Amino acid sequence: MGLIVQKFGGTSVANAERIKAAAKRIVDTYNAGNKVIVVVSARGQTTDELIDLAYEIMDNPSTREMDMLMSTGEQISIALVAMAIHAMGYPAVSFTGGQVGIVTDSSHTKARIKNINTQRMQKELDKGTIIIVAGFQGIDANENITTLGRGGSDTTAVALAAIMKADRCEIFTDVDGIYTADPRKVPHARKLDKVSYDEILELASLGAQVMHSRSIEFAKKYNVPLYVRSSFNTNEGTLICKEVGEMENIVVSGVAISKDDAKITIRAIPDVPGQAAKIFHEIAGKNINVDMIIQNASIEGRADVTFTVPRIDLRLALETAEKIRKDLNAKEVLHDSKIAKLSAVGIGMRSHCGVAEKMFSALAKEKINIQMISTSEIKISCVIDEAHADRALRTIHTAFGLDKVENAEVAKI
Ligand code: ADP
Ligand code: ASP
Ligand code: MG
Repeated sequence: MGLIVQKFGGTSVANAERIKAAAKRIVDTYNAGNKVIVVVSARGQTTDELIDLAYEIMDNPSTREMDMLMSTGEQISIALVAMAIHAMGYPAVSFTGGQVGIVTDSSHTKARIKNINTQRMQKELDKGTIIIVAGFQGIDANENITTLGRGGSDTTAVALAAIMKADRCEIFTDVDGIYTADPRKVPHARKLDKVSYDEILELASLGAQVMHSRSIEFAKKYNVPLYVRSSFNTNEGTLICKEVGEMENIVVSGVAISKDDAKITIRAIPDVPGQAAKIFHEIAGKNINVDMIIQNASIEGRADVTFTVPRIDLRLALETAEKIRKDLNAKEVLHDSKIAKLSAVGIGMRSHCGVAEKMFSALAKEKINIQMISTSEIKISCVIDEAHADRALRTIHTAFGLDKVENAEVAKI
């Protein structure tokens, strides 16, 4: 007898029919002799609708109240899923994040889980009850409701799987598994049978919204075997697991695009030691995450520094950059929010060369200009004009031999 955590995303509980289908899967797993913890998201587009509603009321709602509002979506789902299981004649009980002991820090709308009190869950499991938990939410030390960031139900599921030492964690969604690229943007994308934590971690943080990146951090740290599969069919999904030797042969496992960043340039900064430290000290002080940074070679004792920040933080970042410009006696601050970050990811990059060249050549052939480049051991990212985003994604998907029709030729370099 094992313990299985199953997570159902928004589309998988969108209406009564889908909820009943999810309940059937849950009960099948239970009848196979397992204890089951279920995590659910808000139905369909509920979270988006709640957010829109808030902005109809005011421009700048407090993050505490946003959490109070957004967390209601998941609360509807848990009650309905529990009822659907009751209707089949099985024992189930629904819990909010707070009721199940998920304690987070107080960073409303982007809280991080600090600890989970497992007592109540354990008691219910011992009684043979199926537990249904609201994803995406917790409470802070003062019992304020918090949320974990958009897509955060995945993180709830994996965190529960980790703390309860589950045998597996299954993420049920609206695609058959993890693909070489978002199948909605790249029709020729292929499903991956197996992929490493590190690759998904990169892909998720670089725009592949299929998994919340924090969830993969948990899965990797606690070595939770993660299966991503469709709630619409019984096809074998994708296993996300520790890296195994054979994975090294695949140079590029997936590509992704993100339109979440904006670019800021501080021009003609006097080129003396300590300037970069001053700039990024100020930006970090505002709790803004900087991703890529480039500094041009200095001309006549002055250099330009360009960096990217999350688009949602652009206004604050620009105010800060303007202050820095004055302090450092730089010439001007420029910005561009119509950029996209295009990335290729694969653990095989560690042992193969020529990957960057292949990406740059493919973009050059399509006359797509590269504005910034950054690399790590297993990824290459380029900033390009947002207008070319989806075409660029398809271009490099083909260039790396990831298209379905070329199945046999995976990333020949
Ligand atoms: P859920 O509501 O089940 O959490 P999400 O919408 O968060 O579902 O994630 C599933 C979606 O992720 C898919 O519909 C797909 O369009 C998108 N996606 C992005 N990149 C990928 C990828 N590499 N593989 C599979 N799906 C991807
Ligand atoms: N309902 C939340 C969202 O839409 C959390 C999730 O779906 O994982 O972001
Ligand atoms: Mg999701």
